[in-house]
Amino acid sequence: MKLAVIEGDGIGREVVPAAVEVLDVFGLEFEKVPLELGYARWERTGTAMSDEDIETIKGCDAVLFGAITTVPDPNYKSVLLTIRKELDLYANVRPVKPLPGIMGVTGRNDFDFVIVRENTEGLYSGIEEIGQDLSWTKRVVTRKGSERIAEYACKLAKQRKNKLTIVHKSNVLKSDKLFLDVCRQVASAHGVEYSDMLVDSMAYSLMMHPERYDVVVTTNLFGDILSDMCAALVGSLGLVPSANIGENYAFFEPVHGSAPDIAGKGISNPLAAILCVKMLLEWMGKVKEASLIDGAISHVLENKLITPDLGGTVSTAEVGHAVAEYVKNALKT
Ligand code: ATP
Repeated sequence: MKLAVIEGDGIGREVVPAAVEVLDVFGLEFEKVPLELGYARWERTGTAMSDEDIETIKGCDAVLFGAITTVPDPNYKSVLLTIRKELDLYANVRPVKPLPGIMGVTGRNDFDFVIVRENTEGLYSGIEEIGQDLSWTKRVVTRKGSERIAEYACKLAKQRKNKLTIVHKSNVLKSDKLFLDVCRQVASAHGVEYSDMLVDSMAYSLMMHPERYDVVVTTNLFGDILSDMCAALVGSLGLVPSANIGENYAFFEPVHGSAPDIAGKGISNPLAAILCVKMLLEWMGKVKEASLIDGAISHVLENKLITPDLGGTVSTAEVGHAVAEYVKNALKT
């Protein structure tokens, strides 16, 4: 198994090493391929990512990614969007689950759902024209794109509570009617219980009644917005991981960005990146190993081995060591 390790910029350089320390404890057969991409690379060389880097990434099986600071160049093509497109990582998956002792903005911890966002089309089609007086972006919804994201969401729902919520805005955006119809058809074919919600009502409902949801499937932009909003339910951006999944490839990244305001201070929370390792292990079918990470995270939270964003005083590296140590001991027993 070949794993590209892309720390990127800012706190990516702190949280990814902590996550890799945890991964290493499992002693699994990984060939790690470190790649320097992003803003710092662009400053040094004028390129954030080359065609050769894309080929190197394609030669791996998965990516563990930190964060990249957006390059201030009008011609800059997002590294993340490019990788998602090149590798056809069509499903963006974000579990939204409370962690022991941590309360988010709503002060509740009775929810456990997953947002499955279509990751390759919608308003992120990249088909646009920017003019002085008129700018437009084409919103693309295809049957194939809708079918495969609905299939992914339904398979996930079947492993969970068999409940799917289809989020759309088909009353205004006629392109969403295709998405909605296809999702309904796929859910029926799988025998998954489904309902649908307009995205604006859904935003409100997720804050008021997050316990109602199990698997939520939606288009690209809506999923982007809703999933960031849901980080507030969990409590800190530093606690939410995500995966971008393709046919035979997966790319794992924390939901947070490069956080230049705290970068270099060693105080960033590495738990989102460590939860990315958990998602990587699950994707590899290493479910038992993945569950040890849950145990380790409960242990550090209960013992207040936490970074300042959660009210603690412990450093990024120390949290990483504590999680790794717990897993090491758990593997011995
Ligand atoms: P970027 O431009 O890369 O998106 P950003 O600062 O705009 O960076 P985030 O990196 O998502 O966006 O950070 C938003 C806020 O959340 C910042 O104040 C940051 O310090 C905080 N934050 C994000 N990630 C973490 C983390 N892992 N630990 C602690 N605080 C975090």
